[in-house]
Order: sequence, then structure tokens, then C-alpha cells
Amino acid sequence: MLGAMQDWTMRVTHVVDHAAREAGSREIVTHWADGSETRTNWAGIRRDALKMAQALERLGLKPGDKVASIAMNHSRHLVSWFGVAGMGGVLHTVNPRLFEDQLEYIVNHAEDRVVIYDAMFQPIIDLMKDRWPNVEHYICFDSGEHVTSFEDWIGAEDGDYRWVEGDERDPCMICYTSGTTGNPKGVQYEHRSTMLHAMAGLQPAAFAFSAASVMLPVVPMFHAASWGLPYAGAMAGIKFVFCAVNDPAVLHEMMIKEGVTDSAGVPTVWLAHFQYCDAEGIDLPPLKVATIGGSAAPKSMIERLMKSGIRVQHAWGMTETSPIGTVGGPTHDWEQMSFEEKVAKIQMQGRPIFGVELRTVDLDDFTKVLPRDGKTSGALQIRGPWVVKRYFKAEEDAVTEDGWFDTGDVGILHSDGTLQLTDRTKDVIKSGGEWISSVELENAAVGHPAVAEAACIGMAHPKWDERPVLFVVPKPGAECEAQSIIAFLSDKVAKWWLPDAVEFVDDIPHTATGKISKKDLRARFADYRLPEAE
Ligand code: AMP
Repeated sequence: MLGAMQDWTMRVTHVVDHAAREAGSREIVTHWADGSETRTNWAGIRRDALKMAQALERLGLKPGDKVASIAMNHSRHLVSWFGVAGMGGVLHTVNPRLFEDQLEYIVNHAEDRVVIYDAMFQPIIDLMKDRWPNVEHYICFDSGEHVTSFEDWIGAEDGDYRWVEGDERDPCMICYTSGTTGNPKGVQYEHRSTMLHAMAGLQPAAFAFSAASVMLPVVPMFHAASWGLPYAGAMAGIKFVFCAVNDPAVLHEMMIKEGVTDSAGVPTVWLAHFQYCDAEGIDLPPLKVATIGGSAAPKSMIERLMKSGIRVQHAWGMTETSPIGTVGGPTHDWEQMSFEEKVAKIQMQGRPIFGVELRTVDLDDFTKVLPRDGKTSGALQIRGPWVVKRYFKAEEDAVTEDGWFDTGDVGILHSDGTLQLTDRTKDVIKSGGEWISSVELENAAVGHPAVAEAACIGMAHPKWDERPVLFVVPKPGAECEAQSIIAFLSDKVAKWWLPDAVEFVDDIPHTATGKISKKDLRARFADYRLPEAE
């Protein structure tokens, strides 16, 4: 027999209804690419989302249909998150930095019927239009001469609309992950999984939003649902400040001007912000919380933020996990720790938020579950209600029989639940039968004063199988020598981990989400031979 509580289907439209009702006047500020600024609020976002849902129906869209957005962070993009879901559709947030063949593949694979884009991405539309036969309508978030503008399009509606009702397991969003091999894979987020993920994101151990929070998410809205921030933010009724350009000067100005308390982004954007502040001779903005995720946060970054009085939350996740898996923040013994101990703790990836479970298994035998002893590293697996079960249109599940998804990451679990990520399964370097973490070497190397960026890959070695080679981009004007880097690393990693060679390069290839692309680095140095391998 069931209990007797009320039916309340978990649909994301509840989120925007709540925000409009309980925090209707809380502002949503946008700094647009042309430098102009607009202000709306949660009531305005809901009103426009209702009109957008109506406008989509007028175009003939039906529940389950997909709408692509190719856009930066701004209030109209936020409207689309709720407008598309509100008519039962599925928003496909497309990363504009993807390569042409990936753009072609994902829009066709998702069968997107409408594409809504920022004017700055018009060249992408012009290039791809003929290769996207399914797309029936193009709408531009900005106004322009030969485009249907978003404001005009929704402006023709009166907003007298009731959200489409349906199952809470219906999809509301799809994100593609480019992965390292094969075609990109689509992850369909459900209304329910999105709600649960956002609610979990609100807990003090995660984003810890309150009604007083003012968040400027630098993480793009097209990157893994912007880490769920728009939904969690709406639940808490926070003020959002969006920047449609990723210029550190603009971000800095907006943070100061709008009283931003929280921000979130990948390490590269924080680094760019530091460089801007250094060049201008100014302090970091007076944030309360800085969330860093998407790639490992280097020690020097954590130290600098913490010394400025900013609480650092180092989060781990992936497109397949909606994306939050773990978040690191102050632990129960925080006050007893020295500054160095705190930094070391935050350098790890934090603890799982309620709702997901982690385990590590032996890299050579996935049936062997490893101890949480703070030293044994293995393949990281995860399960929970916001973790992918099957990729879009795939014929088989992406999980083991007992529901574990293999992340492709390698990590160590500590007894207090902390995850310490050591590498990607494909990037870990096997030397003489032992594993070397390429990420740890990179993180240590970027602490060297002359190193701007570093990437480490394994190169074939006749005796050891593989040995690490470190590729380094020096800081502009810095004197940098291989020997000084090796000497710098020598008290930070085991002796046998020290790279066999350090090579200086002008740049390191990145993926569309700004991460180091080891695949491209390996391709670029396919003919590289270690001296011993000649
Ligand atoms: P994506 O699906 O593009 O968000 O990429 C997910 C991958 O990014 C993960 O599987 C990790 O390899 C990496 N990643 C995410 N967060 C972190 C982190 N805090 N530290 C190290 N790697 C991370």
C-alpha cells in the first residue's frame, strides 16, 4: 500500500514558478557582448518562458522535440531553459567551440528542429545550415537585419499558457560530451534528475546558496548544464549576473559593481582573472565563494584565492553526472588544520554530495573493489539518480549490471569520503608496471614561477614501457630551463616519476571545454622519440 502524500511531479517548471512567486523581484543582470546591460528578474524570466513555450508550440513543436541553443550566458538563454522544458521540449545546449564535424554530428543526431543562437555565432549558422537538414527554424537571441529576433518572436505571444504536464522522467535537456574517441555522446537529463541534482547542489556542502547570494557563473551555460547553477539558483531565489563575453576585465567590473558573492568556472578562467588583476595591479574581487571544477585546480590557485579570504570549493563531475559528483569545502576538522593542510585538502576533489555513491576498482580487474585507504588508486565509478544510464540512442546501457558508471577517471578514495583524482584512465603513464599520474606532474609543474601551462604524456620506452615527457608553455618573457623544472619537481614527486624530458612549446592544445587535449598533444608529437628509444 502507498502512503498518502500529495502528487507533485518533479518537473523543472516548478523551479521557475517558485522563483517567480517567492523571489520575483530578485534581479537577473546581463552584460551583453555589445557592452550594453539589461536587468530583468525571476518574475520576468517566467513571463518570457511562458511566451517562449507558446511561441514554440506555434512553430509546431511537440513534447519531446529538441531545440538547440548556441549561446553564451545571458538572461534570454536562461529563459530558454524554462521555456523549452515548459512546452515539454528538450533543450540541447551546443558548445560553439566544437569542430565543424562535431557540430554537424550532434545537431543531426539530436534531431534538433529549432536553433536559437547569439549573433556572434552567425558564422557558425552560415557554415552549418546546409548540413543540418532537420533544422526548420533559426532564431537569433539578438536583433539584426535578416534574422528573426528572440524578443520579437516571443513578443508576439501573450504568455497566457499552462506548462505542459508529463512524466517526471521525461527529458528536459540534452548535452553532448566530446570524449576522447568516436563520435560525441548525448546525455539526456530528465526533469526528475535535474531537480534532484539541483536540490543536492543547494546543500551547504555544495553551492550553499541563500537568498542573499549573488552568483556570476563563468562556467558557460553550454557546459554540462552550467553545473546545474541556473536551477539551484532559481530554487534559492538568488541574484544572477551573466556576462555574455568571457573577458576578465568585464567579469571583474561586473563582480565589483553588482556585489557578486559567488562565482564558478574552470581553472583557466580563474587563471585569466589572476593575470588580469596582476597586470592592472589590483586585488581579486571580494567574493565569498569560488567554485572551481572541470579540471584539477592547481595548488597555487587555491592558495591565492584562500589568501584573499575566498572560500574555495573544488568540485569534480562530468557531463554524464549532470555534472556534480563531489565538492570540496571545509571539513569538520577545518579549524584545527594549518593553512598548508587546508590547501592540500582543497586540492583534492572533495566528497560526494548526498545522492551519489563512489567506488574505485582495480585498473586491471574491474570486479575488484578497492579499499578507501587514502593510498590505493583505481578506476573511479559512480552511481546515483543524476548519473547517465544509457547515452541517447545507444543500444546498450553505459553501466555495469549493478548500476555503476565507469567515469574513465583514476582516483584514490580516502576514509573520510574525500576523492583524490589522480588521472584519466587513458592518460595515466605505466612505467615498469607502476602507475605515474600525469596530472600530478602537471599540477606540480605549474607551481614553477616560469611555467604558464604544462601537460604530461607517456612516451614509449624500450625498458620501462612508457616514461613521462612534460610539455611546457613558459610564461611570457620568463627564462625557463628543463633542469630547473626537474629540480623544482624533485621534492614534489617520487624520483622515478620525474619526466625523462621537458619540451618547451608555444601552446598546448585544448578541447572545446578548455581542457588540455592529450589526444591532440599525442597526435602532434606522434613522431617524438625519447633519447633512449632511438
Ligand atoms: P566534462 O564531461 O567535459 O565535464 O569532463 C569531465 C571530466 O573532467 C572528468 O571525467 C574529469 O576527468 C575532469 N574533471 C572534472 N572536474 C575535475 C576536477 N575537479 N579535477 C580534475 N579533473 C576534473
